[in-house]
Parts: sequence; C-alpha cells; structure tokens
Amino acid sequence: MNLTHPLLDLNGDKLREECGVFGAINAADASAVTALGLHALQHRGQEAAGITSFDGAQFFSLRGNGHVAENFSSSEAIAELPGFMAAGHVRYSTTGGSGLRNVQPLYADLAAGGFAVAHNGNISNARTLREELVGRGSIFQSTSDTEVIIHLVATSRYPTITDRLVDALRLVEGAYSLIVMTPAGMIACRDPLGIRPLVMGQLGDATIFASESVAFDTIGAKLIREVEPGELVQVDFDGKITSLRPFGSHAPRPCIFEHVYFSRPDSIFAGRSVYSARKAIGQQLAIESPAEVDLVVPVPDSGVPAAIGYAQESGVPFELGIIRSHYVGRTFIQPSDGARHSGVKRKHNANRSLVEGKRIVLIDDSIVRGTTSLKIVEMMREAGASEVHFRVASPPTAHSCFYGVDTPERSKLLAAQMEVEPMREFIRADSLAFVSIDGLYRAVGESERKSGCPQFCDACFTGDYPTSLTDQTGGDLKTPQFAFDKAG
Ligand code: SF4
Repeated sequence: MNLTHPLLDLNGDKLREECGVFGAINAADASAVTALGLHALQHRGQEAAGITSFDGAQFFSLRGNGHVAENFSSSEAIAELPGFMAAGHVRYSTTGGSGLRNVQPLYADLAAGGFAVAHNGNISNARTLREELVGRGSIFQSTSDTEVIIHLVATSRYPTITDRLVDALRLVEGAYSLIVMTPAGMIACRDPLGIRPLVMGQLGDATIFASESVAFDTIGAKLIREVEPGELVQVDFDGKITSLRPFGSHAPRPCIFEHVYFSRPDSIFAGRSVYSARKAIGQQLAIESPAEVDLVVPVPDSGVPAAIGYAQESGVPFELGIIRSHYVGRTFIQPSDGARHSGVKRKHNANRSLVEGKRIVLIDDSIVRGTTSLKIVEMMREAGASEVHFRVASPPTAHSCFYGVDTPERSKLLAAQMEVEPMREFIRADSLAFVSIDGLYRAVGESERKSGCPQFCDACFTGDYPTSLTDQTGGDLKTPQFAFDKAG
C-alpha cells in the first residue's frame, strides 16, 4: 500500500454543529417518527442520540452513544418508548463532556411533574449560572449546560411550567432551540435572536418540530414555518397550538454558518434553500475572485454546491478531482503505526487521470486550522496538477463560536493567526481567496451586511458577537442580555 499518497478525510478540519433536536406530539408512533427524524439530522451530531417519550401517564427514556441507527433501528428499542409524544436529540460532546449522563433529552421529576428537554445551542453564561445554583443548593446530575435550564425552572416561583420556563430563560444568554415535554404537552422555543434553527411541521394530526426541514421530508411531514426567534410554541394533547412571544421584539441574528456548512443542502433555512444559497456563494466567489484554470474541483462533499456555482459563473468545467470512498468507517484498521499517527483517515483520493497536467481551482466551504487544506493541495500536486488555486465559500474564520458549534480555540484558527497571503503560503496554494462578508450576505439574499445591525450572526468571521458572553468576559447576572416581559 502506498502510504506516501494517503487518502484524506477532508471533514476532519471543520466547525461542527453540536446538536440536532426533533419532537413529535399527537403522533400514534411518536418515538418511531422521532427516530426517523433524528436519522435525517445525523450530520448535526454523531456521538450520541436519545429519545424520551410520554404515554399520558409516564415518561420513558432511551439514550446511547453512537449513531441513531445503532440505538433506535430495532422494534425492541421503539417498543421501550411508548406514547404519542416524543422528543429526540443527536449530539457531539463538546459542551459538557461525552458521558452518557450528558446525552439528551435530559429529564427531571419536578414538583409540577416530569420535565424533559432537548437543546440545540450553547448557554454562554452556563458556568456562572451553575455556580449560583450550586451555591443555593442545587445538585447537578450532568455537566451539560442544558441542565442549568432544568434547575432554573425547578427553582422558579411562577405557578405554571410555561411561566417558569420563561422565567428561567430570562437569565440565560446565548443560543437555544429547545424542545420541552411536560405532562401538559410540548413547548418548542427559540432564543430571542434565533441563533440556532428550529422549524415546525405537520404530519396528519401530529405537530412536529425539528432543527432542519429535511427531517420533515424523511417522514412525509409538511413544513409549516420556522419557530420565530423569541417565540414559544405550546402544543397540547387536543392539538391546540398557542404562540407566545414573552421576550419582546429583537432583530433576529440566525447563524449564517447554517447556510455555509451546517445544514443539509436539501434543507430550507431562514426561508431560503440551503443548496441555492451555497451555489450563490460559489457564484459570488467566482465574480470576486476568478482564477485562470482548466477545472473547478470541489472539496467533497460540502464544497460541491459552491463549486457548481463557481463553475457556472466562470464557465470553467466542474469536475470531480477528489473521490470519496463511501466504505470507510470509523473502525477502519490502519495498516501501520505511521499511518495511524499521521491522523490521516483513508477516505478521499485524488482523481489522478483527471487532474494530471491541469490547472485547477479547489472550492471548499471554509478553512479552520488549515492543516487539511494543506494536505489536499499537496495531494493535488502529487497527482500532477500544474497549478492549484484555492477559493473558500466563506470569509476567514477568525473567531471562536460560543453558540453551540465546536470551534477550536482562537489560537488554533489559521485566520486568527495570519492574513490571507501568509495563509496561502501555509497551505502552499498558487492563490487563495475567500468570499467577502458582503458577498456572503448577497448570496443569502441580502443586499449587503448592515454593519450597525447585521441580519445574521457572523461572529466567527467578524468577532461581532450578538449576545453577552458572561462566562468568557465576566459579567453581572442581574443584568440580563435583553429586557424580558412576563410570560403569558
Ligand atoms: S459564531 Fe459563527 S458558527 Fe457560531 S452562531 Fe455565529 S455564525 Fe454561527
């Protein structure tokens, strides 16, 4: 085996969405529907999955490490989760560690009854809140930031669960898309800026919630609308749907990286097809940073729509210069210690006969640490490409995310360390360019980024964080990030 031309895993150097959530109420087979929905959200978290169901009297939970299919594809597993309401979660382990006790939905028996919660996002003052709660006698079962919400609900003095939840969220800053189950029904809510996504759908008499619309496609449900930023949608067992907006009105700041990379291309995010947005980013990139080349080559799979857009705009042929093996799993046995320690997974290979002697432009969605970009440029040169240009379908990622996305420390982000020309030298490309921030906004349907009031969260590009970051900067808990109204 030729180890000097290793096959690369090109997904090893990406920002990773940490979670996906799904909920179904008034569905005859709620846990089976939830398992299918979670399966469509698998790309949002692959380390663990969980489902909690409710049969009108009792809550049932099944949680496990690994993929959804490993935990929920058997009829025995679904039989352990009876009832007409269920919520599920897929996760990475970055916030709170990887133990099973952190796998969601989290569940607690409160004075008012059972309370289960599935959370996508990150509470950016969780540590500070936790210290306060522990100081007041709360005993935490997990290290997940989501458990803070449960303790805040448990200790709230408001009479109803909904008012308690709103009271709890008054103190929470950061990003949250939540699906909550109580003996009275389901509550889905999104933080006041709508940083993380959450959509609402319908399947017969059932109301469905999910991180992405693609989960509805897989179960044959209809997309109704987004849960709006700052909205709580309550659904009871008679199918009555109540919308509450207890947090006042704020200009939304949904995560623009959902368009760049996180969401599946067949999802609709912020009212726009993710696939079309990615293609439009590629077109914008071609307008801003053309390259005199023979082929446009996507870095698979996430670079494909942008590369199609780049090729269509520039008139240069789109070709698959990198081929991904679909048969390399996590258990693949490396042939030698040397290969294992290189950290290289044997997943991608150069299409040598295509690229040999050609000038190519590689299109990728982002550069994080830059180490994979360097390997892929080298792989193309080793395969005989005469010139290797690199175009990136997002601005330089120079800041960490604190809203539920696994980002390396800022010191590990290549763009935090150097300007574009030194980055080009680092990855050894003949040229390197990123789409501009205004170009990105144009591609997702805006005329430009409004600098005083940006339409999206773009903090990992700009450093312009839309909320306070108390755990990072310190802060006064008595000063919530927004003015909140009482629930009702
Ligand atoms: S910082 Fe970046 S990844 Fe995080 S929510 Fe904002 S845009 Fe998304």
